[in-house]
Amino acid sequence: MLSTLHTNDAVSSATRLMDMGLEGYLVASAVQCILAQRLIRRVCQNCATPRKLDASEQAWLHDEAGISLDNHDFVHGSGCNQCNQTGYSGRIGIYELLVMDSTLTEALRNEDQNAFQKAASEQSGYRPLVQNALDYARDGITTIEEVIRLCGWAD
Ligand SMILES: [Zn+2]
Repeated sequence: MLSTLHTNDAVSSATRLMDMGLEGYLVASAVQCILAQRLIRRVCQNCATPRKLDASEQAWLHDEAGISLDNHDFVHGSGCNQCNQTGYSGRIGIYELLVMDSTLTEALRNEDQNAFQKAASEQSGYRPLVQNALDYARDGITTIEEVIRLCGWAD
C-alpha cells in the first residue's frame, strides 16, 4: 500500500505516524520506505547572475550542511519581464528516500526518535532533502536563498 502524509521530510514522517497515535511497533512492521518530495523554485535563466555567498549564508552552510563553498559562484535572479521581476521561473522537485533497515526498524519499535534520526543520517544511501536542494543551487538551477527558505520550512 502507498500512502501520503504532510511532513517536512522523510525522517519526520516516521515520527509523525507515532505522534498521530500509532504504536511504534506497528509503524516499524508496516513501513518499508519513505520518499519525501518538495518543490523549490527555479531561478529565472533570463536574469540569473552569479554571486558569492555573504557571511551569514556562509555560516549557515557551514552549520547546516557542514560544507564550505565560500568562493563558489551561486546564482541570483535580478528580476526581468520574463519572470515578473521575481527572479524565479518554474519549479523543480527535490527528493529524499529512506529505506527501512534493521537499525531504523529497531528505533521505531522503541519509539526512540533520536535513535531513528541518527540511524537515518548514518545510512549510506540516505541524502537529506537539503543536500538535494544544495546540488541544484550549486549547479545554478536554484538560489541559495531558496535552499535556506526550504530549511526554514517557511511556506
Ligand atoms: Zn527573470
